Amino acid sequence: MDASPDRIRIMSGDITGLAVDAIVNAANRSLLGGGGVDGAIHRAAGPELLEECRTLGGCETGQAKLTRGYRLPAGYIIHTVGPIWQGGDRDEPELLAACYRNSLQLAVEHDVRRIAFPAISCGVYRYPLSEAARIAVREIRHFLTGNAPIETVYLVCFDDEVRQAYEQALAGDRAG
Ligand code: ADP
Repeated sequence: MDASPDRIRIMSGDITGLAVDAIVNAANRSLLGGGGVDGAIHRAAGPELLEECRTLGGCETGQAKLTRGYRLPAGYIIHTVGPIWQGGDRDEPELLAACYRNSLQLAVEHDVRRIAFPAISCGVYRYPLSEAARIAVREIRHFLTGNAPIETVYLVCFDDEVRQAYEQALAGDRAG
């Protein structure tokens, strides 16, 4: 399969409502819940999610772990831990890229065809939006080019600023 642009789709809204095979959670290293999209996912999935997360022993920054989706319409949740932005010279770009790669790899291992990502690290972790969007698009496109059996990757935007950043990154990536 090629990495034709329509395999990557930008959409606005709440990721917890999506009936895809897997949604990605921008979690923290404890995997025991937090604010932002993490909190929303735990609330929507129900307490069974926290029970499963307790068995996982946390997750390192840049890595990803998978759980069931419980009360979510999505079958699985892939929990990944984005880097906290500390100025850019603490491996933040490489760690953010690893989040996308490792999440997609885990998805393929579980026969996920449709997967939705939030803007990892772009909330309380304060990663600069346009840079984070460029990394997301670059890593996803690269992964899709490598014969991955994934049909569609949704980039879910909770606000217009994020949407704009993704639109620019997708346009720039196509041009380049
Ligand atoms: P991080 O700690 O990785 O920065 P946050 O949850 O604070 O994670 O923010 C990541 C992104 O997820 C932000 O762009 C935020 O606006 C967005 N977000 C928050 N809630 C939701 C939701 N329910 N669905 C999709 N995106 C969300």
